[in-house]
Amino acid sequence: MRYVVFLLLATLALAPRFAAAEEMHADSVDIEYVAPTSAKLKPVYDMVKNARVLQRIRSMLIPLKLPRRLLLKTEACGKDDAWYEAGVVTVCYEFFDEIWKNVPEKTTPRGVTPMDALVGPIVDTFLHEVGHAVFDLWKVPVLGREEDAADFFSAYLMLKFNKQEAHRLIMGTAYQYREHVLKPKVTVPVVEFADQHAMPAQRYYNVLCIAYGSNEAPFRDFVEKGYLPKDRASDCRDEYEQIAYAFDKLLSPHIEPGLAEELQLHQLPPANRKPMRRQAR
Ligand SMILES: [Zn+2]
Repeated sequence: MRYVVFLLLATLALAPRFAAAEEMHADSVDIEYVAPTSAKLKPVYDMVKNARVLQRIRSMLIPLKLPRRLLLKTEACGKDDAWYEAGVVTVCYEFFDEIWKNVPEKTTPRGVTPMDALVGPIVDTFLHEVGHAVFDLWKVPVLGREEDAADFFSAYLMLKFNKQEAHRLIMGTAYQYREHVLKPKVTVPVVEFADQHAMPAQRYYNVLCIAYGSNEAPFRDFVEKGYLPKDRASDCRDEYEQIAYAFDKLLSPHIEPGLAEELQLHQLPPANRKPMRRQAR
């Protein structure tokens, strides 16, 4: 009996330590706003820092059980880009500036508010890069193009926000591809098809389809207003189910229960608040 008690105590004492070595908790996400050296990007740096973008993204990641520390970083890169590499997500100030530059003066005919045009692509980009991070850190098998899987990871999480916020995020995300879908015909150099990412117009339709497939009612306007063709819409439920199944099988074991509840608590900046104006430069 004493031996059993000893074993029990030994197990209890060791178990948390083993668990801690395997998977840490969300305070395992670090953040860093690297100050740009060029004065040109200083307003972007100020905007991103004052909006507490990294703190807000980090708080969305609380339920993720990561095996090592993940750094979310913003910095000047000399190009409009974002990427994940070796435990670090980097989003460039040039990327934020591009998004900021394209914020409409007023709410668009499709109902995208200036705030949504800013927030949607920022959240989507961070979650997309975090998608790459978790595929790497959790050694998740990805069948198909990783860029598509990262887009789906992001969309799946955005759809866990409450329906109104999810609609804003999805429309804001779709807005970043608007130039590629406004005209009925697109002409691109053939080499564009060699890109690892899907074409912007495909990413546009994909994100609308996944949203509509997740729950028709709040996203019915996508089909009614013709943003998403009926032919594609009819299969979106199946497409969403496939993503949800993969997420559940491959990713959920690494995530604390209550991810959806956590994300539903998350509030975006009010849709009717105007983002700070970007000065032309
Ligand atoms: Zn990517």
